[in-house]
Amino acid sequence: MTKKKGKASRAASGAPRATGERLELLKRSPQWRGGTFVNTLPKRPVSVSKALLKLLRGNGHAQPVGAIPIVERSADDYVQAPESGLRVTWLGHSTSLIEIDGRRLLLDPVWSERASPFARLGPKRFHRPPLALGQLPALDAVLISHDHYDHLDHRTIAQLATKVPLFVVPLGVGAHLVHWGVAKERIVELDWWQEHKLDELVLTATPARHFSGRSVVMANQDSTLWAGWAIAGHTHRVFFSGDSGLCPEFAEIGERLGPFDLTLMETGAYDPLWPDVHMGPEQAITAHQMLRGGLFVPVHWGTFKLASHGWTEPVERLMVAAKEAGVVIAVPRPGALVEPANFTEVERWWPLLPWQGVDETRITSTGLDSEEQPTSYTGTRPSACLGKGS
Ligand SMILES: [Zn+2]
Ligand SMILES: [Zn+2]
Repeated sequence: MTKKKGKASRAASGAPRATGERLELLKRSPQWRGGTFVNTLPKRPVSVSKALLKLLRGNGHAQPVGAIPIVERSADDYVQAPESGLRVTWLGHSTSLIEIDGRRLLLDPVWSERASPFARLGPKRFHRPPLALGQLPALDAVLISHDHYDHLDHRTIAQLATKVPLFVVPLGVGAHLVHWGVAKERIVELDWWQEHKLDELVLTATPARHFSGRSVVMANQDSTLWAGWAIAGHTHRVFFSGDSGLCPEFAEIGERLGPFDLTLMETGAYDPLWPDVHMGPEQAITAHQMLRGGLFVPVHWGTFKLASHGWTEPVERLMVAAKEAGVVIAVPRPGALVEPANFTEVERWWPLLPWQGVDETRITSTGLDSEEQPTSYTGTRPSACLGKGS
């Protein structure tokens, strides 16, 4: 973005709402009610002022002090396809490159310095992207989960617009892409449970519990859909959560589209103030079990400060929850390659900082009976945990 300080980029934030044929598609969605998209399970309203205040107050460890040890990548790393047929490169936050059964997909590509409509204001990256945009290997498709700035990046999309043959997005998100220079013919918009096939590869938009909107004055809230993605090749299956609170649909996704060799689950940016739009680490493990997931890779952490929790807390809590539930997790550095077939054990590359355990800040998504959470995870606090202030 090349905008003046303090001014929101109209190009980035002020994309038009869907019109014509695209609007008709939205109106036919079961999730479309009275002019906006809604979740299946309602979400508890979030106090924006309370949330902002808490975020600004933050805590002393909400962002790293030193450099995060990224693994530099280049196009050469992708000349040779993964031996097992499935590999993921976590590029920071939710941005991930998936190589699956001979195809390459890029999820929620964000290369900008900030997840924000402003050039000099808003959450700033903790680390530079481990792979330069110009070093991306040829892609079969870009998948987008929803239109929030930390997932849908104007500058990145504009640069990929003519280089990637296909953009698969939830309903309504296509209007942003067209506005930023992506040809209509390259965009496929899907409702939950709808699929798009690339020969043998099947991309299915899956339900999520979240919200949408890019306006700094909260205009056009929820006018585009949010989704997760099930990606099924001839041999492997991957699930990407997008952003979501815990919801019963994870079990249905697991039933209909699982099991998954690999899940990329949102693990950070949680807070008890907004328990229905982000899961938190313990519920992410629960969701993974509902999905019938194999290897769990946390995303949506380690790159932007979007909540007041410590920046390492999501993975500290995840390590505890995963161990207790018997779930296998990988926690790659940004840029590290993970091949589920060859994965051995977590290497601790992040510093040991104070963090709050589940007993101090439990995230419990509302509206779910305990019977709907078929997990053994109960969330006890480990004795080794460095608690608040310690
Ligand atoms: Zn979001
Ligand atoms: Zn997000």
